[in-house]
Amino acid sequence: MTKNQSLSQIYLDSNATTPVLPAAAKAAFDAMKETFGNPSSSHITGLRAKNLMEQTRKSAMHFLGVGTGKLVFTSGATEGIQTAILSSLVAAKKNIKPDESYTLLYGATEHKAVPNSLHHWNELLEINAEIKAIPVNHRGELDLDFIEKEIDNALMICTMAVNNETGVYQDLSKLEQAIRSTGNDVFWMVDCVQALGKRKLDLQATTIDYAPFSGHKLYAPKGIGLVYIRENAPFTPFIAGGGQESGLRSGTENLPGMAALKVIFDTLNGDAEDRFADHTQLTLYRNQLLTALKQAFPDVVLNHPLDNTVPTTLNFAVPHFASKEIMDLFDAANIRVSSGSACSSKVTRSFVLDAMGLPSWQSESAIRMSFGPLMTQEKCDAACARIKMAAKALGESCLTVKPAVNQKLVNGLLELKSGNSCCWLYTDADSKTAVIIDPLPELISRIVNIVNCQKLKIAAVLDTHGHADHQSSRPELESQLKMVTKTDQLGWPKHFDTVYVGENAYPTIRIGNKALLRVKTPGHTDDSVSYLLTEEIDVVKPHFKYAFCGDTILMGSLGRTNFCTSSSEQMYHSLHKLNELLASTTLICASHDYHNEFTTTLITECYRNTLLSNVLSTQSSINEFCEQKSVLDSNLNDQTGCEIQCGAYVEIDESLPIVEYDKNELSILLEKDHDAKLVDIREPHEYMLQHGIKAEENVPMTRLVEFIAQHLSDKDKHYILVCRSGTRSLVVAQALARLGFTNIGHVQGGYALNS
Ligand code: PLP
Repeated sequence: MTKNQSLSQIYLDSNATTPVLPAAAKAAFDAMKETFGNPSSSHITGLRAKNLMEQTRKSAMHFLGVGTGKLVFTSGATEGIQTAILSSLVAAKKNIKPDESYTLLYGATEHKAVPNSLHHWNELLEINAEIKAIPVNHRGELDLDFIEKEIDNALMICTMAVNNETGVYQDLSKLEQAIRSTGNDVFWMVDCVQALGKRKLDLQATTIDYAPFSGHKLYAPKGIGLVYIRENAPFTPFIAGGGQESGLRSGTENLPGMAALKVIFDTLNGDAEDRFADHTQLTLYRNQLLTALKQAFPDVVLNHPLDNTVPTTLNFAVPHFASKEIMDLFDAANIRVSSGSACSSKVTRSFVLDAMGLPSWQSESAIRMSFGPLMTQEKCDAACARIKMAAKALGESCLTVKPAVNQKLVNGLLELKSGNSCCWLYTDADSKTAVIIDPLPELISRIVNIVNCQKLKIAAVLDTHGHADHQSSRPELESQLKMVTKTDQLGWPKHFDTVYVGENAYPTIRIGNKALLRVKTPGHTDDSVSYLLTEEIDVVKPHFKYAFCGDTILMGSLGRTNFCTSSSEQMYHSLHKLNELLASTTLICASHDYHNEFTTTLITECYRNTLLSNVLSTQSSINEFCEQKSVLDSNLNDQTGCEIQCGAYVEIDESLPIVEYDKNELSILLEKDHDAKLVDIREPHEYMLQHGIKAEENVPMTRLVEFIAQHLSDKDKHYILVCRSGTRSLVVAQALARLGFTNIGHVQGGYALNS
């Protein structure tokens, strides 16, 4: 283990939360130490505490232009949102007529706290109104015509001043005109969380009924917030009890939080020592960051306009990189940004950008960079330099359009994934020749970058079968790589050699001094083939290192055989054929990997897949196999969801023996056991940027199968895997253990908790 240069953290995620302003932290500490009284106590200590609380309220009321309205302290904006919704719905319920239908309206890009709370209270209070999302246009602006049309039936409308993901602000006066156009006195809540300190607010000049605020988004601690209530707007306490806050919000007050918040509002009012950067200065910082992003990633795309957003938020997408990849890269460079939210399909995407109608890839690649008014020129310069450094590391691993020169040639097998689909690139380093198997449309530009940057000659671009879940991107890839060889419909060249294995002749192409044999393995589809790679051509029975079997054998399953061109009888024979050809150490590289298992062997599969083991041990007749397979396939139809599942899933063994290490256990182990090896399984650009503890070896997940192939003969060696958060290392540890590696550990919490 070596110690690498340590990079200080660059925090660009202020829309999520902010550090506490030192003066605010000091005020909170003083409140705990000196002004610790209970504001309800009538002695001097209590009176002092109460005074501090009222001074905070006064400062906030002044800054927000509260006028004759009220400001109630809360634990944060989520509580403020509950208070507003509960108050509105309790009041609205009194006037509900049984035979009329009502709606609750909210902006489609609202923070999830809003629609979720609307659903909750609508159900709990038995209002049974229809909850409708107000659409936004591609600029993130609310559809005012929709509001005007819908407002008559609405009991409440919830909108936001500034969006947390894009920084898009709404024109509140136009919105007000639309809401009040019909004279309906609908209750109106405006979530002002992200507007504080970034947009001017004069609440008394509006007809907004409720406005929640949150301290931790602007340098106050978590656990303190405020809600504005317009004069005469209905109010129902969300927390009842001892009658604090004039009975509006019970519970002993969070004095330290209030003391800190006072410093923030005093600063906003210009009455404190600290100064917040003004709009002009913040815009300069944003422009500088944007320029740095454009230099680092020349094809970067902004996900929002600049003329209707606050200057402290940039939301962008780098073509061909998922949010998670850029997040991982930035985290390795010690820059903190955030991505969209994870949805059920496990692909991170942004519902806000989806609502704006942005192309799907922009939503899946979205990165939010946000800062606050404490940004300084020095911090901005450092952030720009670090962004460029991160992008350079990406170039050095051949992943960007402008890759750096002199990269190390990637030898052997590289796995590229998109969702659950796998594409394989095998390179013979001596001859710089490669073959690409099952290319995916989303990966074309990445493959082209790798091929050009490594100056590879491509022997063939092959499909294992006509895929049901995506169009082959082979023709497009061949054209981008300027390949002119004549091929059949799966990419197999018209001119090829023949290699005999026993009695049988197999069409073969050369990849340098390696050979790739084609074996027809119909079943999943009638055109399914398997490609078997051997590094020893001149022997009678070659050992196949890799078998690219498409969807014939998948990890934990067999390819489905209920497409119109499928045949389970043929699959039965294909499985036997593969069994004759594959060695116990041949790694099967499938075209789908639904459970992050990377690769498998026939033996590993037979161990857990009785259907397969019965076929191969001839315990199942062809008819029995077909019957059982059709039952499995019919179950599969129920679990397809939005994605076409290509394999009939069998089962997964979760009880794998993996040791988890924390920092102390790891250092003791590495001191004691010199044979134990710490392996960083992040991508090379992340490894390159690593700060703190550095692992001896880097085995990125894209190269894991090659690593497995090289280490099949020393499965007892002690490997401890490490990544950013411990998630990827656990997945890889499970994959290795499943393949019979006996001594695998991983670092729990990854670098995040152990550097
Ligand atoms: N509304 C918006 C726009 C937000 O950004 C957030 C926080 O992410 C919330 C509401 C919830 O705020 P809190 O964390 O104070 O409950």
